[in-house]
Amino acid sequence: MTKRISATAIDMETKKSKHTSDNWSVHSYKDKVAKQQPEYPDQQKLENVLKELECLPPLVHTGEIDQLRAQLKEVADGKRFLLQGGDCAELFAYCNKNQIENKVKIMLQMSLILTHGAHLPIVRIARIAGQYGKPRSSPTEIIDGETFPSFRGENVNGMEKEDRTHDPQRLLKAYFHSAATLNYIRALVHGGFADIRKPENWELSHVEDLHTRQLFEGLSSKVQESLEFMKKILNVKDNEALRYADFYSSHEGLILDYEAALTRVEGTGEGAKHYNTSAHYIWIGDRTREITGAHIEYFRGIANPIGVKCGPSMEPEELVRLIRILDPDQQAGRLSIITRYGHANIKNYLPAHIKAVQEAGLKVVWVCDPMHGNTESSQSGYKTRSFDNVLSELRSAFNIHKEHRGRLGGVHFELTGDNVTECTGGSENLKDTDLGTNYETFCDPRLNYGQSMDMAFLIADYFNK
Ligand code: PEP
Ligand code: MN
Repeated sequence: MTKRISATAIDMETKKSKHTSDNWSVHSYKDKVAKQQPEYPDQQKLENVLKELECLPPLVHTGEIDQLRAQLKEVADGKRFLLQGGDCAELFAYCNKNQIENKVKIMLQMSLILTHGAHLPIVRIARIAGQYGKPRSSPTEIIDGETFPSFRGENVNGMEKEDRTHDPQRLLKAYFHSAATLNYIRALVHGGFADIRKPENWELSHVEDLHTRQLFEGLSSKVQESLEFMKKILNVKDNEALRYADFYSSHEGLILDYEAALTRVEGTGEGAKHYNTSAHYIWIGDRTREITGAHIEYFRGIANPIGVKCGPSMEPEELVRLIRILDPDQQAGRLSIITRYGHANIKNYLPAHIKAVQEAGLKVVWVCDPMHGNTESSQSGYKTRSFDNVLSELRSAFNIHKEHRGRLGGVHFELTGDNVTECTGGSENLKDTDLGTNYETFCDPRLNYGQSMDMAFLIADYFNK
């Protein structure tokens, strides 16, 4: 009986979400409960900001979004692999030449290593140019014995305790910092920085570990040799395509008023499509993915490729319902499920999630986020993650998908191109006692440059087993 009722409910949900014209509008999320939203003292000020955002140009072009969607379709078809990575929480101060270059560089280097290992082209999506807003477990926190609103990311409030009031002007600041960051990324990838024929752009001074450095230099010269060989044998001129690299932006689509204000329509009538133009790809966090919630409502109507984080609290049948709502037409590459259970938990949850999706006859791109289930408190008091635990969850994900005759389509990391000391382990063998040396994150701990390179080599090796 219960089963029959829930099946009918599913049918209705699916039918309703088939066409965006079916009760969906850019603002239909406002009729649902939205978790983790800012509370502004002055609504009029928010309205003014949103009007301004609605008039500003898109941050990304809809053609680029379609291109990413086509690449993610190839991920779904087993022809590409996805690398997604970046900060847990971006700060406006990260919008500078060095930090942007370091992030683009580590993503390009990791993807070269992965391409070589997987024999597949890599789709690069960075958590950048908009990854400002953070969900929090408590709306308040106690500092020096006094209660303050929690810090929710720089697009909502400031880190300093006297700066905790939610301020809508910060949404504009977020827009302009995203624009400046994206502008420099575009300059880098089109200006020659991403050119794999110019190894001088790929210098490895950040890699402390000699072995990792030698591995990468060996791989990079192999690539150069292959290119030279191709040029001679096939008598081809320098291929312009080698100068460029596709590089896409992403963030958690948390603050719905901001996302809605940057939503734009292409086409008219039945053919009209709504694109979120704040980033190429946005995802729903593990804390805001209720079936009946506002986030699912907003996301179901946009044409971007999207992701949903999926942790231990996701019931298998809930996952199936969610996929039917967010990807009713089952368009390959539209939806990625980003799993994050923890190295000790993955075996208890991922098989049931895969089975439920398979039994329902559905397909998604499965991505493993081996970071968010592996956060721990170190003895020295820092929030950290162990490289080995991260790797262990990743290995299990590869194996479990294979055992279920499926495929892991990609990986999702919190990482940085800088030499921080936030996660333990890796080839530099960072210890708990080293964490204080350069611990910069105020949110979750990230793999540093060397640890990210190590991870890429280990994943590449895994493909060859
Ligand atoms: C995040 O990606 O930073 C995050 C908060 O993840 P999750 O929603 O999986 O907890
Ligand atoms: Mn995080």
